[in-house]
Amino acid sequence: MDHLADVAVVDPRDGSITPHQDIHFSAGRIASIGSTASPGGGRTRFVVPGFVDMHAHPLNLADPTPALRLMLSFGITGYRQMSGTPALLRNRPAADSRSPRLLATPGSVLTPINAGTPAQAAAEVRRQAAAGADFIKVAVATPVVYAAIQAEADRAGLPVVGHLPTGIDVRKARYRSIEHLGPGLGLLAGCSDHEDHLRTAIAGAPLKAPPFPIPFAGRIAEILIRRIVLNPAQLTTPAMLDSTREAIDTFTEDKARALARHFAASETWNCPTLIRVKAQQLCADPVFPSDPDLRYATAKERKAWTAAAKAFRRKFDESQRAVFAEQFALQQRMVKILDEEGAPLLAGTDAVGAAWVVPGASLHDEFDLLSEAGLTPLRILQTATVDPARFLHREDVSGTVDPGKEADLVLLSADPTAAATNLHQLIGVIRAGRHYSTDDLNPLRNSNTAAA
Ligand SMILES: [Zn+2]
Repeated sequence: MDHLADVAVVDPRDGSITPHQDIHFSAGRIASIGSTASPGGGRTRFVVPGFVDMHAHPLNLADPTPALRLMLSFGITGYRQMSGTPALLRNRPAADSRSPRLLATPGSVLTPINAGTPAQAAAEVRRQAAAGADFIKVAVATPVVYAAIQAEADRAGLPVVGHLPTGIDVRKARYRSIEHLGPGLGLLAGCSDHEDHLRTAIAGAPLKAPPFPIPFAGRIAEILIRRIVLNPAQLTTPAMLDSTREAIDTFTEDKARALARHFAASETWNCPTLIRVKAQQLCADPVFPSDPDLRYATAKERKAWTAAAKAFRRKFDESQRAVFAEQFALQQRMVKILDEEGAPLLAGTDAVGAAWVVPGASLHDEFDLLSEAGLTPLRILQTATVDPARFLHREDVSGTVDPGKEADLVLLSADPTAAATNLHQLIGVIRAGRHYSTDDLNPLRNSNTAAA
């Protein structure tokens, strides 16, 4: 099929809807859009731009194809890969109309392993810039190492994104996007009346990265890292939980709003990945094992995630788990404050590697959590379409349904501006002009479990 007949086109910029349109595709692009000659009286089908998952890790897998198919089947037509390798930079996956588009990737994530000192960090940034990285991602850094990373990235003209350096003043980070609201206390520390005290406390308890590099320890290190990635909240110490309690009790709305306005003014984006934050901090919540979308995860993933939940329940008692839950409620409130103050937001999931985060399906969980936080359906649609286009400087080819743009679209059976749940009502996906009906999407969905 090289066209869609009689659809309602949704403009994610303002939520306006133009009914009874025919959309023609050519060479993977939208060739033209015009009024339907004789509109039918059937149920309205709504067309929106394909969804973008702005925080995902499918290319970490040895064979990413099944996970990518799964993502596409949930309407994800593009993604920002959040961890790279020298091999990935040398050899990016070829365009494939059965997978979402790789929109950007960093090189290796910066941690004390490859960036333990300012000099090492600067050298690594230079290497990645020369190898063609689209951005630099920081996972673990001290404020001093961060300063070296930022300075070198500025020289190379590359944006820096990622996790805030441990114990830094949130306002001093010049990230283009902050991931996971920190992670940990991150943003919340910057909203506290006890900010200085908390910052010192956090800096005193940095994430314990294994003492790298150790020759011959590569594989063991890999296994350790994979276990940490599954649920980093598992490493939370009683002292860190005390700091969390303190941050919750001293949260100040005025400071939160001032921080949000700072992000708006400095165009610092936040990719909250609420589903990831919730899956970490509420890892043992029964909502996760009973999620019907779990059937799309592989047996191996389900087993690892169940074990992660068990370990979480074993380590943290009920009152400690309650602190994590309160923290999550406050993080959702923070997202609402960011939105109200005009701080830019991106939809993302942290899919692949994270416990309870099902590739593809998790972006819909993110929509629900953003809605629960109080974002309007239109704002949620924007965080997955026109906002990523703006962030990635791809507005000329994506973000709206307009002639000349990539034919990456999602068909919905209900108006996505009327209710966030309507974003789940997928009845088709168009990727580079190739149309997948509901019948085509099911085999894509099941390819992930079949491969395991
Ligand atoms: Zn991630």
